[in-house]
Amino acid sequence: MGIPENLAAIRERICNAAAKAKRDPQDIKLVAVTKTVGLQKIAEAVSRGILILGENRVQEAQRKISNLKFEISNFEVEWHLIGHLQKNKAKYAVRLFDLIQTVDSTGLAKEINIHSEKHGKVQRVLVQVKLSDETAKHGTIEKDVMSLIRSISEMKHLALEGLMTMPPYFEDPEMTRPYFRRLRQMRDDVEKAGFSLPELSMGMSHDFEVAIEEGATMVRVGTALFGERTQ
Ligand SMILES: *Cc1c(COP(=O)(O)O)cnc(C)c1O
Repeated sequence: MGIPENLAAIRERICNAAAKAKRDPQDIKLVAVTKTVGLQKIAEAVSRGILILGENRVQEAQRKISNLKFEISNFEVEWHLIGHLQKNKAKYAVRLFDLIQTVDSTGLAKEINIHSEKHGKVQRVLVQVKLSDETAKHGTIEKDVMSLIRSISEMKHLALEGLMTMPPYFEDPEMTRPYFRRLRQMRDDVEKAGFSLPELSMGMSHDFEVAIEEGATMVRVGTALFGERTQ
């Protein structure tokens, strides 16, 4: 199946899930995850209406953004960083990304803030939350979320828009529902403390319907759009 068919199928799945949850499908943004995907395919996705591209590595994104400059120059696309960011790469991330979805420590937030100021921008960010105890996953643990959010809210060159999570992988998407629900609850709790966090980035190719039912405003979809990754 080609990108147009895949995209149509994804949009239909988004609409069905939104209908089931009595939500407006317009409130759900599709982030096309382009890690390992070639330039031609990315350009095609953009020409078919993709507005947001998600990359998980700074260097790979840098190469793609510069190589695609002319091909997609007629389109207004956003680039999101969805992979872990090392502090020493914050400088580059600030130049490349419209939204950094993976802020998980005060140290990293500070570093992004410093480079955003130097670069004359206010960097949009999400806080990545780790809801499981898998040691390999990045993200701030639940009990540290509130203090990280308070710190970020004092940084003048950061604009915090919401929360992101990447639950453990389960074959059965129903198994991820408690994680998505927990992120939504945390968001609601943080909002009760007076912060505005409209965005919830959660759900991937095989489980985004469940995420949408639980309140996702951004779904990050790679395989379902571009096919299986070869790497
Ligand atoms: C790769 C990746 C995705 C997309 O995964 P698919 O299963 O291919 O849709 C989403 N989010 C993050 C953080 C990723 O690294």
